[in-house]
Amino acid sequence: DQVINKIAAGEVVERPASVMKELFENSLDAGATQIDVEVIRGGRQLISITDNGCGMNRDQALLSIERHATSKIRSEADIENIHTMGFRGEALAAISSVSRFTLITRPEENLAGTEIQIAGGKFLSCEDIGCPVGTRMEIRNLFFNVPARRKFLRAEQTELSHIRQLFLVMALAHPDIGMSLKVDERMVYSLPMSGNMEDRISELYNHSFFEQLLEISYSDSDYRITGYAGLPQTGRKDRQDQYIFVNGRPASAPVVFHALNEAYHAVVSKGRYPAVFLFIEMEPSLVDVNVHPTKKEVRFRKPNQLRDAIAEALSKALSFQNE
Ligand code: ADP
Ligand code: MG
Repeated sequence: DQVINKIAAGEVVERPASVMKELFENSLDAGATQIDVEVIRGGRQLISITDNGCGMNRDQALLSIERHATSKIRSEADIENIHTMGFRGEALAAISSVSRFTLITRPEENLAGTEIQIAGGKFLSCEDIGCPVGTRMEIRNLFFNVPARRKFLRAEQTELSHIRQLFLVMALAHPDIGMSLKVDERMVYSLPMSGNMEDRISELYNHSFFEQLLEISYSDSDYRITGYAGLPQTGRKDRQDQYIFVNGRPASAPVVFHALNEAYHAVVSKGRYPAVFLFIEMEPSLVDVNVHPTKKEVRFRKPNQLRDAIAEALSKALSFQNE
């Protein structure tokens, strides 16, 4: 069983940022309104996530680390969707099999919380503990027992940049959630719950950055496209500041980048990519997210129409600038 968990870990856990993603999504599922992330040494020494979600009682906590333990499949339809939804019920089992893992959790109705310790899939302890309502997970020494995988971890700075990028994406996708990121004991972001994109972007960058952006607002019978776009002539030499969300989920799709390139043609040809925060809404039947459960690449039913819509949305936003 430990071997199976380790193999599953290879699929779920690629690097510290993928651990963080799984934990973050669990916190969202738990209804958290505040999620605090801490990493040390690019997540290689510590990744911890603390949320104020529903928490777990002792039995639920013990179950949560078993393989295929999920509280999230409630119908047969869910079972059919299992592949689109990711590796159901495997994340905690997998993560705790390749790290020193601590879970501290308490639901509102209990006075005492539970602390569970696991190391490399080996159960160490389960004790009562005083703690706030919610859940805290600490992952130390990722891959300490899988040297081959540990070797594949990149330099601290590289792992950290993946973590930071993921944090930014999550922060933009969930402005209604308070979030913080602490790196090597230093608070890097502390974002209040705000619920609006202007505040979130201003917090992540700064307000004058936000004020330079053009507002995007477009809709037709298939697509609703909103967000913000940087002025032509601005932008970085890579796509780091280009964020795309499809039906609220981070997505990457070549067709969207092509559309952006077209709209910004002159600038992009000079090797600059203006900042873009693009939120695209459409009927679920028009998008296929099931390309691969851990990849965020999506496919669209009508890629040409979507490309035209994005180009239109962008040029509308850009043309206001000239008025
Ligand atoms: P999945 O998310 O696919 O159900 P996981 O292995 O990620 O599988 O989590 C297993 C279970 O542990 C979840 O179904 C949930 O019941 C519980 N759980 C995990 N994280 C949290 C959390 N932060 N708060 C409350 N419950 C959690
Ligand atoms: Mg999960």
